[in-house]
Formats: sequence, C-alpha cells, structure tokens
Amino acid sequence: MRIIRYRTPEGSASYGWILEDKVGEVQGNLFGEYRRREARTPLKELKLLAPCEPSKIVCVGRNYVEHARELGNEVPKIPLLFFKPPSSIIAMGESVVLPSQSKQVEHEGELVAVIGRRARNVTAENAKEHIFGFAVGNDITARDLQKSDGQWTRAKGFDTFCPFGPWIDTDFDPSDAVVTCRVNGQMRQMASTRDMVFNVGTLVAYISSIMTLEPGDLIFTGTPAGVGELKSGDVVDVEIEGLGKLSNPVK
Ligand code: ZN
Repeated sequence: MRIIRYRTPEGSASYGWILEDKVGEVQGNLFGEYRRREARTPLKELKLLAPCEPSKIVCVGRNYVEHARELGNEVPKIPLLFFKPPSSIIAMGESVVLPSQSKQVEHEGELVAVIGRRARNVTAENAKEHIFGFAVGNDITARDLQKSDGQWTRAKGFDTFCPFGPWIDTDFDPSDAVVTCRVNGQMRQMASTRDMVFNVGTLVAYISSIMTLEPGDLIFTGTPAGVGELKSGDVVDVEIEGLGKLSNPVK
C-alpha cells in the first residue's frame, strides 16, 4: 500500500491511500488503528505534503563504499550517524532553496525507512516489525560547510534541505533496489541498495540501541557515489526502482 499526506480543500492535512491513480482518505492513527475510505479523488488533483511528520530524522553517513572513497573518507566500522531537523523537510515538487552561506550545495539521493512501531534495543532480525515502510529522500548538503564546520548540523540542517516523498510504500523490499539521482535529466548517482555497508535492519537495530525510535521517525540510509553540485534553476530527481520518484526544483 502507498500512503500520502495531502492538503484537503478545507486547508487541513490528511493521510490518504493510493489505489491506481485515485486516493482515499485514511482516518484515525496511521501507525495504529485506522480506516481506509473509498479511493475516489484523482491523485494528480491533490497538493502533496511530505508523507509523515517525524519527531526526528536520523541519517547515516558513508554507507556506500564508493561514496566514502569519492570524498576521501574511510568506510566506517560502525554506522556514522547525524541528524537533520524536521524543519528541513519539504514535499515532492517544492523548491530546495540555496542558502547564501554556502557556495557548494549538493544532492544525496537516498532510501528512507519510516518507523511504524516504537523501537528500543531491537535486533536486526526484528527490525522489520518496527518499519512502517519506505520512501525516497534527498539529503541536501552544503558540502563546503560540512568540511569547514566538522560538525554537520549546519551543512545538513538548512530549511528545505530534506525533500522526502512522494509517498510511503509499506510493501517495498529494500534489499536490492536501484537508487538513481538525476539533475536536469542527467544521471549523477546510481547504485543498488545491496551495496550498503550496513543494511536497513542493522541500522534500525544500531540506532535503537542509542535512542528510542518513534512512529513516523525517518532513517536516511546513506547515499551512493556521484554526489554533485546543484545550481539555481536545476531540477533534481531521485528515483528508487519499485518505490517512486521524488522531484524538486532548486532556487
Ligand atoms: Zn546522506
């Protein structure tokens, strides 16, 4: 099942489920008890919002060998974690805004896991039971500030630096899917999730040994090689085979 969040004609936010090209409202708690109404509204008529509202966004650095190497880094022996603030989230189609403080803003196409059940000290084997589904994400990064600051909070945390969507797919298999990132239609990144250093189950287990993961929390699982610069006027598309395509203009 694919889940979106959208703006209703009355101006509030609602969850919806997709059946072919139509959407039905999801009433109740998406991560608990809910009801699905009949899918009647054409998907293309709806203003999409980011598909959930996480309490935190935990990201994994250098989780593909080739990407670690392209930036001259070692592959970590344990997952390298950092946060993006929920305030950095934007939806499918919204603009990434280049901040004046940076001269080098880059895309990072990534698979995103969405937590569905509270997770604390779960095992890699049990992690699946705590994952609600998967989405496509773009971990936008001010590479110059990442290098100069040491800490990554500023480089990763600007408003609009977390495009995420267009939906959450609850049936997606993350073990071997091709992740691509294109800028103005030109291929920049391509790899399979099979090439991750730490797989999704291992990441959820590791993170949950540090902090409690709540329903709706996001885990950005790292980016393949081929990161590169974004300029005003570009359109950046991250696509994951069998999951969907996330497209955002840059200004
Ligand atoms: Zn990243």
